[in-house]
Amino acid sequence: MYDIVIIGAGPAGMTAAIYGRRASKSVLMIEAKSYGGQIINTPDIENYPVAAHISGFDFATKVFEQATALGAQTVFEKAVGITPHDGVFTVTTNKGAYEGKTVIIATGSENRKLGVPDEDRLVGRGVSYCATCDGAFFRGKTVAVVGGGNTALEDALYLSELAETVYLIHRRDEFRGAEATAEKLRERENVRFVLNSTVTALHADKRLQSITVKNKNGDETELSVNGLFVAVGRIPENQNFASVCELDASGYAVSGEDCKTKTPGVFVAGDNRVKEVRQLVTAASDGAAAATEAVKYLNSVR
Ligand code: NAP
Repeated sequence: MYDIVIIGAGPAGMTAAIYGRRASKSVLMIEAKSYGGQIINTPDIENYPVAAHISGFDFATKVFEQATALGAQTVFEKAVGITPHDGVFTVTTNKGAYEGKTVIIATGSENRKLGVPDEDRLVGRGVSYCATCDGAFFRGKTVAVVGGGNTALEDALYLSELAETVYLIHRRDEFRGAEATAEKLRERENVRFVLNSTVTALHADKRLQSITVKNKNGDETELSVNGLFVAVGRIPENQNFASVCELDASGYAVSGEDCKTKTPGVFVAGDNRVKEVRQLVTAASDGAAAATEAVKYLNSVR
């Protein structure tokens, strides 16, 4: 039995682990993939206080080591449900079950797909959701990035260092991501902006050869590309936990800044929560708030 079971070892979950351990509570993190979550794919973090530049992998590794050195335990399993009983919670995973007096759901989000035919079939054959993982395969080649958020802009910037040409395809003519990054992209000679446009078809034999792009007037253009990097946002990973926390229409867990859910003892932290700003620093902030509330709850029911 753990005092705090944290589902997800991303920035929110790992920060919660640090706060939980510093309050002398036993902590287990349950992580389905690798520690770090989404941030592990970010090539260069420039907006977290202290470090002017740090890779997502280095950042995540430092936080994981910090949590582990404080005594937080981790298992790499996929949590599939939370069952409350007799004042405790059983978190079921694909391999077993763990009991916690409190649970913090810090599962973040998964890649949203474009939804065009053959997208799934071509993953690993030209279609990718991770520029830092797969960018090196496209050195000297032509790639397209789809999306207008920070991920798409940062991916396009990273790929412009490797690829001969980068098309940045966005469905509007304004970016959701940081203007500072968009400005850097405008200065790159090998970046071509394809705005007010969406990808409607992928063309391949064994590997991706080209894509069809449709603009808002309905005109279609075929672009020859070797790679397509999809960065059109994320979907919150809360579907297994709807019995203990209320979800909004988009699947985000409903809670305030105290990270409480409708179930006393269950908290939610990070990108899977309803919130205005989803950034590394706000994920870490949620982890601190959720663990602090979990500790208060534990001390109140003792
Ligand atoms: P995002 O901010 O939700 O942006 C998704 C982008 O994809 C939007 O531009 C959206 O267009 C577009 N889009 C959505 N569905 C689409 C579709 N079906 N077809 C074409 N385009 C589509 O997602 P994100 O860039 O992955 O970022 C997620 C969160 O992480 C954000 O809060 C972001 O700020 C944060 N983040 C932060 C950093 C950093 O701090 N360094 C780095 C990466 C990500 P519209 O704009 O028209 O809606």
